[in-house]
Amino acid sequence: MQLNLLSESQEVELGKQAKQEAEQTYGVYKEKPELSQYVEGIGKRLSQESGRPNLPWSYEIVDDASVNAFALPGGPIFITRGILGHLNTEAELAAVLGHETGHVAARHSANQMSKAQVAQLGLGIGSILSPTVASAAQVASAGLQLLFLKYSREDETQADELGFRYMTRVGYDPTQMIPLFQMLDGVSKQAGGGKTPEWLQTHPDPGNRLAATQQRLKTELKGSTEGMKVEREKYLQLIDGIAFGEDPRQGFFKGDTFYQPELKFQWKLPSGWKHQNTPQAVAAASPKEDAILQLQIAGKMSPDEAAQKLFSQQGIKAGQPVNVKGAKVARAFQAQAQQGVIEGVIAFTSYQGNTYMMAGYTPQGGLSSYLNTFVDAMGSFSELTDSSALSVKPARLKVVKIDQPMSVSDFNAKYPSSVKLEEVAVINGVDSGGKIPAGHAKQVVGGTGEMK
Ligand SMILES: [Zn+2]
Repeated sequence: MQLNLLSESQEVELGKQAKQEAEQTYGVYKEKPELSQYVEGIGKRLSQESGRPNLPWSYEIVDDASVNAFALPGGPIFITRGILGHLNTEAELAAVLGHETGHVAARHSANQMSKAQVAQLGLGIGSILSPTVASAAQVASAGLQLLFLKYSREDETQADELGFRYMTRVGYDPTQMIPLFQMLDGVSKQAGGGKTPEWLQTHPDPGNRLAATQQRLKTELKGSTEGMKVEREKYLQLIDGIAFGEDPRQGFFKGDTFYQPELKFQWKLPSGWKHQNTPQAVAAASPKEDAILQLQIAGKMSPDEAAQKLFSQQGIKAGQPVNVKGAKVARAFQAQAQQGVIEGVIAFTSYQGNTYMMAGYTPQGGLSSYLNTFVDAMGSFSELTDSSALSVKPARLKVVKIDQPMSVSDFNAKYPSSVKLEEVAVINGVDSGGKIPAGHAKQVVGGTGEMK
């Protein structure tokens, strides 16, 4: 049963707003205009097969390293530069775009969005930036939740079916859905583990996806796929030079230390904590996930003014001053957060024209066991002077030509990459023990992997 809570014009309107938010949150990837046009061209052709050809379809690349793609109600579709770097053919790209187009065509995004409290739209980004503890506590996940709508397994199966249909009608070889699923699987299994591609997190695996696709190939694809488009060489040439992995200019971790080359600071977090860098804040969670440390820019006000503004807000109570090395203002605090009462330390420091706010907090009653950890971490905020960290650049894919098939390790010996061998295998669409076919192949050059 399908309950459409939104009219088509509401759906389109909602998508427009969410599209702006997505563009702001991630940034549109603009380094390769010919690649952007190419993605849009393929998407638009698929959209004409969707049964809703008149929606304001758009297909954009976002500047994000994750392996992801997502669709918003009414037509906006986004694909990350991260997934583009992991694909190997135009037909695989068409499979991803076709799948997302299917979500929009079948109104999955619209239904999810209306369930996800339409009223919350627009709150996202603005509220994260306001330096209140209550919003800071959700910094890692809020805002983006609306964009990362989770679909049901039934929706996924349907989107796979629709994507299959669209790509086939446009003339792409649908057997290319198989290497796509294998790549997603490969990313999940990559050394270091525990890394589920975002595309799989928001698109729950219907279980037998690969098998279902193989079945569909047998029953629906009458005749062979001969003559259908794959376009491996063309695709690989177009992604040559694309940024790969997180952009270290936006800050990066080496071990437990966070480096920000643009703002020229470094910050050492407690060892063993899980960390995350978002455009709004750097945050780390204790191994038991009962304490958070985070750092964000509080603005141009002085540390005193910023502290005053924060502590004048409702629901937050200033406590005793705390001695934090280098900080202009540091105090214990207690606050009412969504999850309950939290307590911790907040410190403000002024550095190169900005005021920074650091907060360490834990549920009420936990501060005594974390106080020293918070104070040590906050006291480690300091100027970044290391020249290799200051001059770091993003890694890039370099597409090279090989005359005959090469094992991944031989390829890596001849064309060394700044990422692990397993990753070289995954981005080239083979197992670590497999052979990369003759023609164009990918290596990864530069980035923090080459930092001294
Ligand atoms: Zn999906």
